[in-house]
Amino acid sequence: MPLFTSPRLRAAIDFAAYFRRGVLVRLVVFMALVLPIVWGGTTFERVQLAHIAQRESGRELQNLAHAFAEEVNATVSTIDMSLLHLRTHWGGNRAEFAQMVERLNRELHGRVILAISVADADGRLAFTTVDVKPGMDLRDRDFVRYHHEGHGDTLFVSYPQFAPIAGEWLVQFSRPMLDAQGRLQGVIIASVEPSYFKRFYHAIDLGPSTSVALVRRDGRIITRTSRLPGGGEAMGELLQGLPYDGAHPTDATSGMFSRMSRLDGIDRNYAWRDLPDYPLVVTVGQSVADAGARYTKQETMLIRKAIVASVLLTLLGWIAIAALDNRRRVAEALATAEARWKLALSASGDGVWDCDLVTGMATLSPRAQDILDSDEPCIRLDATGLQELVHPEDMARVRYALAEHFAGRAQDYAAEHRIRRRNGEWTWVLARGTVAERDEEGRPLRMVGTFADIGLRKTREAHMRHQATHDALTGLPNRILLADRLRQAVRIAQREKTRLAVLFFDLDKFKPVNDSYGHAVGDALLVAVGQRVASCLRESDTLARVGGDEFVVLLPRCANMEDARTVGENILSQLNRPFTVEQHVLQISGSIGCAMFPDHGLDGESLLRGADRAMYEAKNHGRNRVRVARRPARHIPL
Ligand code: GH3
Ligand code: MG
Repeated sequence: MPLFTSPRLRAAIDFAAYFRRGVLVRLVVFMALVLPIVWGGTTFERVQLAHIAQRESGRELQNLAHAFAEEVNATVSTIDMSLLHLRTHWGGNRAEFAQMVERLNRELHGRVILAISVADADGRLAFTTVDVKPGMDLRDRDFVRYHHEGHGDTLFVSYPQFAPIAGEWLVQFSRPMLDAQGRLQGVIIASVEPSYFKRFYHAIDLGPSTSVALVRRDGRIITRTSRLPGGGEAMGELLQGLPYDGAHPTDATSGMFSRMSRLDGIDRNYAWRDLPDYPLVVTVGQSVADAGARYTKQETMLIRKAIVASVLLTLLGWIAIAALDNRRRVAEALATAEARWKLALSASGDGVWDCDLVTGMATLSPRAQDILDSDEPCIRLDATGLQELVHPEDMARVRYALAEHFAGRAQDYAAEHRIRRRNGEWTWVLARGTVAERDEEGRPLRMVGTFADIGLRKTREAHMRHQATHDALTGLPNRILLADRLRQAVRIAQREKTRLAVLFFDLDKFKPVNDSYGHAVGDALLVAVGQRVASCLRESDTLARVGGDEFVVLLPRCANMEDARTVGENILSQLNRPFTVEQHVLQISGSIGCAMFPDHGLDGESLLRGADRAMYEAKNHGRNRVRVARRPARHIPL
């Protein structure tokens, strides 16, 4: 079974076709325009987040450095106070001094000071709480050397050194013992385990890469810690390039800096702060990665949103571009189909028109222009346009046919009508059309159709109709047309209760004319008779030739027999006037029978029969006279 059975689905994923038609290229261009906006915005937001993270981290680090400095300052102050207190008791009993030291350690719960030692003025160990024999030479130790150099009554802090006896790293805090003249009498030393200063570190949580350090002003690390394995304490290491070390003298007592730690290779932001009373500096460092980590969630959300927006925009773009492509293809297909049927219609010789029913403008093919005798390929075919183009007598028919088609009662529009050409002549066209487009409510929007030139056909039809209803020799109505007009006249007379008269006349002794002068002269005489009699009749009367030398006059409005007889007498006097035909002067007469409706018949047939009979009676009574038909046996009142 094929994977995709739906042709629409297959078409939708036919990427090769999309590529051919340029859909994918347009989609790529769309994405190239839109996606940088989405991702540019996202990057901007990320930079903002990172900036906020760094700022917040800096603020927090400075607060922590402040607290750390206060804590260490308090501790160092305790040590210093202890040294100042103990040295005042040095000159007395040694046993008492030892007890005092012990008491002090107890008071401090053994947390800070590990050992108290005293070196004499020569730098030899005079007293110590550790198990070392007195007299040990301490002259090369930095704290002895420092006080011998004469720095006055200041606290000296050594950098950490490993004490083999204690088996620990120790930092010495020392004060000189001076006599009244300020001469050095000895040095009192407190040995402290440096890790004590790191207690603070365990109280803070700035991430796994946090480091805190206590550093001498000259850059020597007293203690340092980080939670990373192998972070190391780097006791006594000399840090260089720091904003507070001797190489960079500054008035500032606190600050920030960022750098990659030389000890563990981690990028950190650091806050540093001087201890208020001692030449020591604390630093608190947080790794840049940890500082940013707290915004990772927002950042992840931001990236997810950007991905969703990108996917949605791509989908929307694809849908829009594919829809446009579809529309274009449908329009192309329509145009092709339209071109095909226009060609087919043109091939039939008809002119093609295409009318926008909203604007009323119609486009004409060259043949349609030719038929309509128009210079313009676009003409108005709205109500006004039609009024100017279509013959007024045909307008109602055109409107009716259009209305029937628009309303859906006629499948197509078709109307034969006359149109005005530029020279003012009328020509017949057969207009056909059909609505090609309607709106949602079914109102017609566009109509296409043809104009066929039917002028020739109409002329032929008129000619044939004339031939069928007229006498070929005289051009007068023949028996068929007479019968038709008679029928109509009878109907009107019946309705209006009026009279009509039928005069039937036959030329007297016409045959001898033929015989004497030839058939052509006879024909010419018949034509002349027709013209002369017609000239003395009213427009509404009909003169017909119904046989060889037989004519009928229909008087549709004739009040009484006398009027009919008068017309008959008038015809006779016209006939009696000589006719000149081909230099022959011909003297003729006629015999006329007269019948009236309703007196002598109620239909055309009987009226003609009655008049014919009366005509024969006129012949029989000497010709050149008018005879009225006899009344039928049954009298029919008017
Ligand atoms: P009557 O006085 O009794 O009417 O006699 P008539 O000579 O007029 O003869 P009738 O009316 O009986 O016949 C009409 C003649 O007209 C017969 C025919 O020779 C002649 N005729 C018929 N049709 C034509 C025609 O088309 N042309 C010519 N020249 N003569 C015709
Ligand atoms: Mg005759």
